Amino acid sequence: MRYDIITIFPDIFHAYLSESIMKRAIAKGIIEIGIHNLRDFTTDRHRTVDDSPYGGGSGMVMKPEPFFTAIETICSDDSARRVIMLSPAGRRFEQGLAEEMAQETRRLVFLCGRYEAIDERVKTALVDEELSIGDYVLTGGELPALVIIDAITRLLPGALGDEHSAEVESFTWGMLDYPHYTRPEHFRGFSVPEVLLSGNHKDILKWRRKEALRRTLERRPDLLEKRTLSDEDKRLTQEIKEETP
Ligand code: SAM
Repeated sequence: MRYDIITIFPDIFHAYLSESIMKRAIAKGIIEIGIHNLRDFTTDRHRTVDDSPYGGGSGMVMKPEPFFTAIETICSDDSARRVIMLSPAGRRFEQGLAEEMAQETRRLVFLCGRYEAIDERVKTALVDEELSIGDYVLTGGELPALVIIDAITRLLPGALGDEHSAEVESFTWGMLDYPHYTRPEHFRGFSVPEVLLSGNHKDILKWRRKEALRRTLERRPDLLEKRTLSDEDKRLTQEIKEETP
């Protein structure tokens, strides 16, 4: 997977990408990342990337020319690209989209906004989609780009140490994750549920599924409305309802 990031704050990316899973994924050649400083694509002495808005109002708008030059330069080899603009007005980025994007064969190019906005003509001419990471406003598109790159990368074969760990996480079953425990068995009066010590894999799997269902029913029932429950899940749901005072 090839990612290209266009930003005025390239240093934000270096720290995150030089640790842990992202660092390993780069070292193993699973991902390649180009971090490009938008100011390198300006032509004036001050390396200007913003200007005041037409029509007046507060805040500055990012100029179109540096983005056009950046994309034309970065993608000059004509390889297929999918250009993503980070924006609170975009489609909500969720696990399903991460899974779809993990299959992408085109390079993913991320445009990180700052100030009030990026000039609309960048979107009109260059952008394939706008993505939002949630209904709140951040100061820039750098964190959203990292969030999306992280969520995609951990789905790529070989990126995680344990191949299976991405398969049983929140949202993969269409539900929230079940509770996890490690040693010690007893800690400050709290004990690990008996079933997890039983060594009975069938019972453990059933307990995990039930607890995932319980959590999802309590915290995010909307997730369950989006999917068809299996007969086993319906039975477990009934058990949970009967157990709930
Ligand atoms: N004026 C914009 C608005 O009201 O929607 C907010 C601009 S914000 C201060 C600057 C940049 O941060 C945006 O251009 C975008 O790239 C990024 N950004 C902020 N919040 C975001 C979010 N929830 N998801 C994706 N990108 C976001």
